[in-house]
Amino acid sequence: MTELRGALIGCGFFAINQMHAWNDVEGARIVAICDRDPERLDIVGGQFGIERRYSDAEALFADGGFDFVDIATTVQSHRALVEMAARNKVPAICQKPFAKTLSDAKAMVEACREAGVALMVHENFRWQTPIQALRTALDTGAIGTPFWGRFSFRSGYDVFSGQPYLAEGERFIIEDLGIHTLDIARYILGDVSSLTARTRRVNPNIKGEDVATILLDHENGATSVVDVSYATKLSKEPFPETLIELDGAEGTIRLRQEYGLEITNAKGTTITDVSPKLLSWASRPWHNIQESVYAIQQHWVDQLKRGAEHSTSGADNLKTFALVEAAYDSASRGQTIDVGAML
Ligand code: NAD
Repeated sequence: MTELRGALIGCGFFAINQMHAWNDVEGARIVAICDRDPERLDIVGGQFGIERRYSDAEALFADGGFDFVDIATTVQSHRALVEMAARNKVPAICQKPFAKTLSDAKAMVEACREAGVALMVHENFRWQTPIQALRTALDTGAIGTPFWGRFSFRSGYDVFSGQPYLAEGERFIIEDLGIHTLDIARYILGDVSSLTARTRRVNPNIKGEDVATILLDHENGATSVVDVSYATKLSKEPFPETLIELDGAEGTIRLRQEYGLEITNAKGTTITDVSPKLLSWASRPWHNIQESVYAIQQHWVDQLKRGAEHSTSGADNLKTFALVEAAYDSASRGQTIDVGAML
């Protein structure tokens, strides 16, 4: 099997997970890295033994010698870097949030489509082992047609120490975390036609909202609630687990804290342990996310080699990104938003 060569741009906090995962992925390796911060470049280059190091992405592309680029910078640079990849005809992975606005995101998808290169958003939460297990149960008809769901992420975990920029933006939880939860809701119950949201800020030391409650009308008639909070102090901290409730015509599924998948139907109730693996480089409680980073990057390589569409392609992610914008719009205007009209 030919090995794809990748270049990684952005050697920050989360890129460490991506670099570890690239070591585990079959069929690809990272041959060059880029960061405008020389200290980060040294740390990651040294830790992972990468000799080709660049402080400027234009210089990286000018030298070439790689088959794809993995963009792990924060959102401000995503559009410029994805368009740079398209100009250079290099397939690209881009971290979430995909873009600053939906119109930027649409332009990025269009640039890659015109250049004929694959574009995948690193929307990894749907690749978590418990989410995949729940989807399999649904697909095999365990509860019949689902008509209601709840996708919940409520935590008091201090995310600001590792990612200080999260405290500084006008927008916080929907853009950073809710984007994943909304994507899971779409992945499980299908695309969304309209949405209503309420937000608030509880933590006085941050700028954006840290609590959001979002009501989704799915195109297939199902209703769901996405509720996210970083202001919820519980006896047993669930970070970073997404808890799910699904009601179907023939039964129910509950994804409970500590990774128990409970299915109730005419046959009775079963509880299965759907815990993620603790990869050699992973650490609790992040291991659920870390395993999904490996899974999405392996999916990138496999689909690229087959020439097939990625589960979280740029085009797919527009439908998740629209939910983020719709949620902020709904919360500020107090109105229900027609999501279909935005796409
Ligand atoms: P970070 O600030 O720690 O790292 C970003 C790095 O990119 C920095 O080292 C910075 O110098 C570099 N950079 C920025 N612009 C650049 C440019 N134009 N050229 C070269 N280098 C540039 O941020 P982070 O916490 O690692 O987050 C990065 C992204 O990952 C964010 O978009 C964040 O939302 C996302 N993230 C995703 C997950 C997930 O589970 N998918 C989890 C955490 C963070």
